Amino acid sequence: MKRPSVRFHVLHNGPGLFGCDAIQADDAVIGEPPRCEACGHPVGMRAWLPPVRVNFEVCRDGYCDFVFPPVNDILVSSRFKQIYESEGLTGLSGFDPVEIVKIKPKRRAKEPPPAYFRVFVARSQAVVDPEASGFDPPADKPVCPVCRIGSNRKRWKKLVIQPGTWSGEDVFFPRGCTGDIIVSERFKMVCEAHGVTNALLIPVEEYGYDFYPHETKDWDIRKYEETLAVLRTMNRAGRLDDYVEAMEEMRKYVLADPKFDWLEELRERFEGKIDPIGDAAHDAYYNLIAPWYAKYVRKPKGPSRRT
Ligand SMILES: [Zn+2]
Repeated sequence: MKRPSVRFHVLHNGPGLFGCDAIQADDAVIGEPPRCEACGHPVGMRAWLPPVRVNFEVCRDGYCDFVFPPVNDILVSSRFKQIYESEGLTGLSGFDPVEIVKIKPKRRAKEPPPAYFRVFVARSQAVVDPEASGFDPPADKPVCPVCRIGSNRKRWKKLVIQPGTWSGEDVFFPRGCTGDIIVSERFKMVCEAHGVTNALLIPVEEYGYDFYPHETKDWDIRKYEETLAVLRTMNRAGRLDDYVEAMEEMRKYVLADPKFDWLEELRERFEGKIDPIGDAAHDAYYNLIAPWYAKYVRKPKGPSRRT
């Protein structure tokens, strides 16, 4: 097998991140989205104009180097800014100072936050190959040769960058696939060398996702089976035996009627105390819609996520 000469990774900014969070303050000024210079189609989310003011949520590990507000931009710490500059990485611009308006929870915000900067991710010449990436549905209309935005992707198997199209940025949005931030192998090495936090990097070859899993074959049964499988792996020292047995008993009902509400049955049987099953169902869901989830998402120890 030929090894690809250039390796890329997705800088994941969606489900499975446990780091700090930030959202725009109420007075945020929102502008126009960037548009394709050829067809005029929006190629990203609407612009967030300065001043960049945020409400900030600190995670249990303290202030992260990367924070992903619900826009296309990233907030980076002053520490990362320095690393980025001294290592000569490329692909980010802007570096607008961020003003933190509110910060929570107070108990985790004992230290004052570092300076943060808002950066824009470059829109690269790199093209994602929809066919090789397994986009479903495939584009149903001629695709603009410049932005290459096709019909909405419901699911895909991986992201394949067409060889020879990458314009060399270390961090970028490719064409034909808005919203996914791609980084170079060198970017990954720099992040690892400096212990950059909240940088969840997933090889593009493994980065599949399904936004409409309920449309796929046997979804309800697969969800039940995967939840049980996860629950078994969580069952160290037999503490969850009762839950495992209860789920096993219900298999025949699930197979007979995939719409059988086993979760509700379990909730009744255990008088609402089914947190471990809820956790297992959550992980099972992500295992099924994002095959990389179990391998790359490292969960913090302890019960809760951000608060
Ligand atoms: Zn276009």
